[in-house]
Amino acid sequence: MHIRDVLARDGMTASFEFFPPRTDTAWNEFVASLPEFEALQPSFVSVTYGAGGSTRDRTDALVSRLATDTKLAPVPHLTCVGHSTAEINHILETYAARGVSNILALRGDAPRAQAAGTTDFQHAIDLVRAVNTFNESGRHPDPRGFGIGVAGFPEGHSETPNTLLQMDHLKAKVDAGADFIITQLFFDNNAFFDWKARCTLAGITVPVIAGLMPVTTLAGLKRMAELAAGTRFPAPLLRAIKRCEDDAESVANVGIHWATEQARDLIDRGVDGIHFYTLNRSDATRRIYRTLGLSGRVGSAATGNQIR
Ligand SMILES: Cc1cc2nc3c(=O)[nH]c(=O)nc-3n(C[C@H](O)[C@H](O)[C@H](O)COP(=O)(O)OP(=O)(O)OC[C@H]3O[C@@H](n4cnc5c(N)ncnc54)[C@H](O)[C@@H]3O)c2cc1C
Repeated sequence: MHIRDVLARDGMTASFEFFPPRTDTAWNEFVASLPEFEALQPSFVSVTYGAGGSTRDRTDALVSRLATDTKLAPVPHLTCVGHSTAEINHILETYAARGVSNILALRGDAPRAQAAGTTDFQHAIDLVRAVNTFNESGRHPDPRGFGIGVAGFPEGHSETPNTLLQMDHLKAKVDAGADFIITQLFFDNNAFFDWKARCTLAGITVPVIAGLMPVTTLAGLKRMAELAAGTRFPAPLLRAIKRCEDDAESVANVGIHWATEQARDLIDRGVDGIHFYTLNRSDATRRIYRTLGLSGRVGSAATGNQIR
Protein backbone atom coordinates (compact mmCIF):
# COMPACT_ATOMS: atom_id res chain seq x y z
CA MET A 1 0.00 0.00 0.00
CA HIS A 2 1.12 3.57 -0.60
CA ILE A 3 1.74 5.52 2.61
CA ARG A 4 -0.91 8.06 1.62
CA ASP A 5 -3.46 5.19 1.42
CA VAL A 6 -2.46 3.98 4.89
CA LEU A 7 -3.00 7.53 6.18
CA ALA A 8 -6.38 7.77 4.50
CA ARG A 9 -7.35 4.44 6.08
CA ASP A 10 -5.92 4.86 9.60
CA GLY A 11 -5.80 8.64 10.13
CA MET A 12 -2.13 8.50 11.14
CA THR A 13 0.94 6.32 10.76
CA ALA A 14 3.35 4.95 13.36
CA SER A 15 6.57 3.55 11.91
CA PHE A 16 10.13 2.51 12.74
CA GLU A 17 13.55 3.09 11.20
CA PHE A 18 16.02 0.18 11.04
CA PHE A 19 19.58 0.02 9.74
CA PRO A 20 21.09 -3.11 8.15
CA PRO A 21 23.38 -4.71 10.79
CA ARG A 22 27.06 -4.91 9.85
CA THR A 23 28.11 -8.30 11.26
CA ASP A 24 26.57 -11.77 11.16
CA THR A 25 26.15 -11.74 14.94
CA ALA A 26 24.37 -8.37 14.92
CA TRP A 27 22.24 -9.54 11.98
CA ASN A 28 21.14 -12.72 13.78
CA GLU A 29 20.36 -10.82 16.99
CA PHE A 30 18.34 -8.23 15.12
CA VAL A 31 16.40 -10.77 13.07
CA ALA A 32 15.60 -12.67 16.29
CA SER A 33 14.14 -9.44 17.74
CA LEU A 34 11.85 -8.74 14.76
CA PRO A 35 8.79 -10.40 16.40
CA GLU A 36 9.03 -7.74 19.17
CA PHE A 37 8.64 -5.04 16.50
CA GLU A 38 5.94 -7.00 14.66
CA ALA A 39 3.91 -7.21 17.87
CA LEU A 40 3.65 -3.39 17.83
CA GLN A 41 1.96 -3.48 14.38
CA PRO A 42 3.69 -0.45 12.84
CA SER A 43 2.32 1.03 9.62
CA PHE A 44 5.71 0.49 7.97
CA VAL A 45 9.41 0.12 8.75
CA SER A 46 12.12 1.98 6.86
CA VAL A 47 15.62 0.62 6.16
CA THR A 48 18.57 3.00 5.82
CA TYR A 49 20.97 3.00 2.86
CA GLY A 50 24.67 3.91 3.02
CA ALA A 51 25.32 6.92 0.78
CA GLY A 52 27.30 5.96 -2.30
CA GLY A 53 25.94 2.39 -2.04
CA SER A 54 28.06 1.34 0.98
CA THR A 55 25.21 -0.80 2.40
CA ARG A 56 23.56 -1.61 -0.92
CA ASP A 57 23.61 -5.42 -0.50
CA ARG A 58 22.80 -5.37 3.22
CA THR A 59 19.92 -2.92 2.75
CA ASP A 60 18.55 -5.12 -0.03
CA ALA A 61 18.98 -8.29 2.07
CA LEU A 62 17.11 -6.75 5.02
CA VAL A 63 14.32 -5.35 2.83
CA SER A 64 13.94 -8.77 1.20
CA ARG A 65 13.88 -10.53 4.57
CA LEU A 66 11.25 -8.14 5.95
CA ALA A 67 9.09 -8.41 2.82
CA THR A 68 9.13 -12.21 2.65
CA ASP A 69 9.38 -13.42 6.26
CA THR A 70 7.52 -10.84 8.37
CA LYS A 71 4.24 -8.90 8.47
CA LEU A 72 6.24 -5.64 8.40
CA ALA A 73 6.00 -3.39 5.32
CA PRO A 74 9.53 -2.27 4.36
CA VAL A 75 10.16 1.20 2.93
CA PRO A 76 13.76 1.26 1.65
CA HIS A 77 15.76 4.48 1.90
CA LEU A 78 17.66 5.15 -1.33
CA THR A 79 20.38 7.78 -1.69
CA CYS A 80 21.32 8.93 -5.16
CA VAL A 81 24.70 10.59 -4.65
CA GLY A 82 27.45 8.78 -6.58
CA HIS A 83 25.03 6.44 -8.37
CA SER A 84 24.39 6.33 -12.12
CA THR A 85 20.86 6.38 -13.57
CA ALA A 86 21.36 2.73 -14.66
CA GLU A 87 22.29 1.69 -11.10
CA ILE A 88 19.27 3.48 -9.65
CA ASN A 89 16.95 1.85 -12.20
CA HIS A 90 18.39 -1.56 -11.37
CA ILE A 91 17.76 -1.03 -7.64
CA LEU A 92 14.20 0.17 -8.33
CA GLU A 93 13.55 -2.89 -10.52
CA THR A 94 14.70 -5.19 -7.69
CA TYR A 95 12.39 -3.49 -5.18
CA ALA A 96 9.47 -3.51 -7.62
CA ALA A 97 9.97 -7.26 -8.11
CA ARG A 98 9.89 -7.74 -4.31
CA GLY A 99 6.53 -5.95 -4.13
CA VAL A 100 7.94 -2.90 -2.28
CA SER A 101 5.34 -0.11 -2.50
CA ASN A 102 7.20 2.99 -1.24
CA ILE A 103 10.72 4.45 -1.46
CA LEU A 104 12.30 7.19 0.67
CA ALA A 105 14.22 9.26 -1.91
CA LEU A 106 17.31 10.97 -0.47
CA ARG A 107 20.47 12.61 -1.65
CA GLY A 108 22.86 11.29 1.03
CA ASP A 109 26.12 12.84 2.20
CA ALA A 110 29.10 11.20 0.55
CA PRO A 111 31.43 13.75 -0.99
CA ARG A 112 34.04 11.10 -1.75
CA ALA A 113 31.52 8.67 -3.23
CA GLN A 114 30.19 11.51 -5.36
CA ALA A 115 33.67 12.51 -6.50
CA ALA A 116 34.50 8.90 -7.36
CA GLY A 117 31.16 8.07 -8.96
CA THR A 118 28.96 9.67 -11.57
CA THR A 119 27.27 13.05 -11.27
CA ASP A 120 23.91 11.91 -12.68
CA PHE A 121 22.30 13.02 -9.39
CA GLN A 122 23.01 16.30 -7.57
CA HIS A 123 20.05 16.50 -5.22
CA ALA A 124 17.23 14.33 -3.92
CA ILE A 125 14.84 15.97 -6.39
CA ASP A 126 16.77 14.27 -9.21
CA LEU A 127 16.02 10.91 -7.58
CA VAL A 128 12.34 11.82 -7.13
CA ARG A 129 12.23 12.51 -10.88
CA ALA A 130 14.03 9.22 -11.66
CA VAL A 131 11.52 7.25 -9.54
CA ASN A 132 8.68 9.04 -11.37
CA THR A 133 10.17 8.12 -14.73
CA PHE A 134 10.45 4.52 -13.52
CA ASN A 135 6.82 4.64 -12.34
CA GLU A 136 5.68 5.94 -15.72
CA SER A 137 7.50 3.11 -17.51
CA GLY A 138 4.99 0.62 -16.05
CA ARG A 139 7.68 -1.65 -14.58
CA HIS A 140 6.08 -1.74 -11.12
CA PRO A 141 3.25 -4.24 -10.48
CA ASP A 142 1.16 -1.35 -9.02
CA PRO A 143 0.08 0.78 -12.02
CA ARG A 144 0.80 3.88 -9.88
CA GLY A 145 4.34 2.68 -9.20
CA PHE A 146 6.18 3.49 -5.96
CA GLY A 147 4.88 5.99 -3.41
CA ILE A 148 7.72 8.49 -2.87
CA GLY A 149 8.85 9.95 0.45
CA VAL A 150 11.46 12.68 0.97
CA ALA A 151 13.36 14.12 3.94
CA GLY A 152 12.38 17.35 5.73
CA PHE A 153 14.42 19.34 8.26
CA PRO A 154 12.32 21.28 10.82
CA GLU A 155 15.44 22.84 12.35
CA GLY A 156 17.20 23.51 9.07
CA HIS A 157 19.86 21.84 6.93
CA SER A 158 23.46 22.97 7.30
CA GLU A 159 24.06 23.49 3.57
CA THR A 160 21.18 25.95 3.19
CA PRO A 161 21.18 28.47 6.05
CA ASN A 162 18.57 30.53 4.17
CA THR A 163 15.38 28.89 5.52
CA LEU A 164 13.14 30.42 2.84
CA LEU A 165 15.33 28.92 0.13
CA GLN A 166 15.37 25.60 1.93
CA MET A 167 11.57 25.60 1.99
CA ASP A 168 11.64 26.26 -1.79
CA HIS A 169 13.85 23.18 -2.21
CA LEU A 170 11.44 21.05 -0.16
CA LYS A 171 8.45 22.36 -2.13
CA ALA A 172 10.27 21.52 -5.38
CA LYS A 173 10.70 17.89 -4.23
CA VAL A 174 6.97 17.69 -3.48
CA ASP A 175 6.03 19.34 -6.77
CA ALA A 176 8.29 16.81 -8.55
CA GLY A 177 6.16 13.97 -7.16
CA ALA A 178 6.97 13.23 -3.51
CA ASP A 179 3.83 12.23 -1.67
CA PHE A 180 5.01 12.22 1.94
CA ILE A 181 7.77 13.74 4.07
CA ILE A 182 9.67 12.17 6.98
CA THR A 183 11.50 14.66 9.21
CA GLN A 184 14.88 14.72 10.85
CA LEU A 185 14.65 13.99 14.57
CA PHE A 186 13.79 16.89 16.89
CA PHE A 187 13.17 17.37 20.62
CA ASP A 188 11.10 20.56 20.56
CA ASN A 189 7.57 20.05 19.23
CA ASN A 190 7.02 23.80 18.89
CA ALA A 191 9.91 23.93 16.38
CA PHE A 192 8.20 21.13 14.44
CA PHE A 193 4.73 22.72 14.45
CA ASP A 194 6.08 26.13 13.45
CA TRP A 195 8.00 24.57 10.54
CA LYS A 196 4.89 22.53 9.60
CA ALA A 197 2.86 25.78 9.52
CA ARG A 198 5.54 27.30 7.25
CA CYS A 199 5.27 24.21 4.99
CA THR A 200 1.53 24.86 4.71
CA LEU A 201 2.16 28.55 3.91
CA ALA A 202 4.56 27.42 1.16
CA GLY A 203 1.78 25.25 -0.32
CA ILE A 204 3.15 21.90 0.87
CA THR A 205 0.10 19.79 1.65
CA VAL A 206 1.44 16.21 1.60
CA PRO A 207 1.52 14.31 4.93
CA VAL A 208 4.46 15.09 7.23
CA ILE A 209 5.68 12.24 9.43
CA ALA A 210 7.57 13.43 12.52
CA GLY A 211 10.92 11.76 13.34
CA LEU A 212 11.44 10.92 17.05
CA MET A 213 14.50 9.44 18.69
CA PRO A 214 14.44 8.82 22.43
CA VAL A 215 17.74 9.65 24.16
CA THR A 216 18.74 6.47 26.00
CA THR A 217 22.42 7.13 26.79
CA LEU A 218 24.71 10.14 27.14
CA ALA A 219 26.92 8.80 24.34
CA GLY A 220 23.81 8.49 22.14
CA LEU A 221 22.87 12.12 22.83
CA LYS A 222 26.35 13.26 21.74
CA ARG A 223 26.12 11.12 18.57
CA MET A 224 22.73 12.68 17.74
CA ALA A 225 24.17 16.16 18.14
CA GLU A 226 26.81 15.26 15.57
CA LEU A 227 24.63 13.35 13.08
CA ALA A 228 21.62 15.68 13.22
CA ALA A 229 23.55 18.97 13.21
CA GLY A 230 21.38 21.95 14.08
CA THR A 231 19.02 19.95 16.32
CA ARG A 232 18.29 21.89 19.51
CA PHE A 233 18.32 20.07 22.83
CA PRO A 234 15.87 22.02 25.05
CA ALA A 235 17.27 23.14 28.42
CA PRO A 236 14.64 21.20 30.46
CA LEU A 237 15.74 17.96 28.73
CA LEU A 238 19.44 18.68 29.31
CA ARG A 239 18.74 19.73 32.93
CA ALA A 240 16.86 16.49 33.63
CA ILE A 241 19.66 14.43 32.10
CA LYS A 242 22.33 16.36 34.01
CA ARG A 243 20.55 15.62 37.31
CA CYS A 244 21.07 11.88 36.81
CA GLU A 245 24.03 11.66 34.42
CA ASP A 246 25.88 9.15 36.64
CA ASP A 247 23.00 6.69 36.54
CA ALA A 248 22.53 5.08 33.10
CA GLU A 249 19.06 3.70 33.88
CA SER A 250 17.77 7.10 34.98
CA VAL A 251 19.20 8.76 31.84
CA ALA A 252 17.25 6.25 29.73
CA ASN A 253 14.10 6.86 31.81
CA VAL A 254 14.40 10.64 31.30
CA GLY A 255 14.95 10.27 27.53
CA ILE A 256 12.08 7.83 27.06
CA HIS A 257 9.76 9.97 29.19
CA TRP A 258 10.64 13.03 27.06
CA ALA A 259 9.97 11.15 23.81
CA THR A 260 6.70 9.76 25.21
CA GLU A 261 5.49 13.27 26.06
CA GLN A 262 6.58 14.49 22.62
CA ALA A 263 4.63 11.65 20.94
CA ARG A 264 1.54 12.28 23.12
CA ASP A 265 1.57 16.00 22.26
CA LEU A 266 2.15 15.32 18.53
CA ILE A 267 -0.81 12.92 18.44
CA ASP A 268 -3.03 15.33 20.42
CA ARG A 269 -2.20 18.07 17.92
CA GLY A 270 -3.09 15.91 14.92
CA VAL A 271 0.30 14.87 13.53
CA ASP A 272 0.11 12.78 10.33
CA GLY A 273 2.54 10.19 11.63
CA ILE A 274 5.42 9.42 13.96
CA HIS A 275 8.59 7.70 12.78
CA PHE A 276 10.65 6.19 15.61
CA TYR A 277 14.41 6.07 15.01
CA THR A 278 14.86 2.74 16.83
CA LEU A 279 18.59 2.05 16.28
CA ASN A 280 17.36 -1.55 15.88
CA ARG A 281 16.36 -1.82 19.55
CA SER A 282 12.74 -2.28 20.53
CA ASP A 283 12.83 -1.44 24.28
CA ALA A 284 12.34 2.33 24.14
CA THR A 285 9.70 2.17 21.40
CA ARG A 286 7.85 -0.60 23.24
CA ARG A 287 7.72 1.49 26.42
CA ILE A 288 6.39 4.51 24.53
CA TYR A 289 3.79 2.32 22.80
CA ARG A 290 2.68 0.83 26.12
CA THR A 291 2.38 4.20 27.86
CA LEU A 292 0.37 5.77 25.03
CA GLY A 293 -1.69 2.68 24.15
CA LEU A 294 -0.40 2.87 20.58
CA SER A 295 -0.38 -0.87 19.87
CA GLY A 296 -3.02 -1.72 17.29
CA ARG A 297 -3.81 2.00 16.82
CA VAL A 298 -2.83 1.73 13.13
CA GLY A 299 -2.71 -1.06 10.56
CA SER A 300 0.23 -2.28 8.53
CA ALA A 301 0.80 -1.14 4.95
CA ALA A 302 1.65 -4.80 4.30
CA THR A 303 -1.77 -6.18 5.14
CA GLY A 304 -4.17 -3.79 3.52
CA ASN A 305 -6.47 -4.44 6.53
CA GLN A 306 -7.30 -2.00 9.25
CA ILE A 307 -6.32 -3.53 12.60
CA ARG A 308 -7.61 -0.72 14.78
C1 LIG B 1 14.23 10.86 7.38
C2 LIG B 1 15.68 10.85 6.94
C3 LIG B 1 16.25 9.67 6.51
C4 LIG B 1 17.59 9.66 6.08
N1 LIG B 1 18.13 8.46 5.67
C5 LIG B 1 19.41 8.42 5.19
C6 LIG B 1 19.98 7.21 4.70
O1 LIG B 1 19.35 6.15 4.72
N2 LIG B 1 21.24 7.25 4.22
C7 LIG B 1 21.97 8.42 4.18
O2 LIG B 1 23.12 8.38 3.72
N3 LIG B 1 21.45 9.59 4.63
C8 LIG B 1 20.19 9.61 5.13
N4 LIG B 1 19.66 10.80 5.59
C9 LIG B 1 20.50 12.00 5.60
C10 LIG B 1 20.36 12.82 4.30
O3 LIG B 1 20.77 12.07 3.18
C11 LIG B 1 21.24 14.06 4.45
O4 LIG B 1 20.79 14.83 5.53
C12 LIG B 1 21.39 14.93 3.23
O5 LIG B 1 22.32 16.00 3.53
C13 LIG B 1 20.11 15.64 2.80
O6 LIG B 1 19.36 14.76 2.10
P1 LIG B 1 18.07 15.27 1.26
O7 LIG B 1 17.51 14.03 0.71
O8 LIG B 1 17.24 16.15 2.07
O9 LIG B 1 18.83 16.11 0.12
P2 LIG B 1 18.36 17.34 -0.76
O10 LIG B 1 16.90 17.49 -0.81
O11 LIG B 1 19.10 17.20 -2.03
O12 LIG B 1 18.93 18.58 0.07
C14 LIG B 1 20.30 18.65 0.43
C15 LIG B 1 20.71 20.12 0.53
O13 LIG B 1 20.72 20.68 -0.77
C16 LIG B 1 19.87 21.82 -0.82
N5 LIG B 1 19.27 21.85 -2.16
C17 LIG B 1 18.26 21.10 -2.64
N6 LIG B 1 18.01 21.42 -3.92
C18 LIG B 1 18.90 22.37 -4.27
C19 LIG B 1 19.17 23.11 -5.46
N7 LIG B 1 18.43 22.92 -6.57
N8 LIG B 1 20.17 24.01 -5.46
C20 LIG B 1 20.93 24.23 -4.35
N9 LIG B 1 20.71 23.55 -3.18
C21 LIG B 1 19.72 22.64 -3.15
C22 LIG B 1 18.86 21.60 0.30
O14 LIG B 1 18.31 22.83 0.75
C23 LIG B 1 19.73 20.95 1.36
O15 LIG B 1 20.47 21.92 2.06
C24 LIG B 1 18.35 10.85 6.07
C25 LIG B 1 17.76 12.05 6.53
C26 LIG B 1 16.44 12.05 6.97
C27 LIG B 1 15.84 13.33 7.49
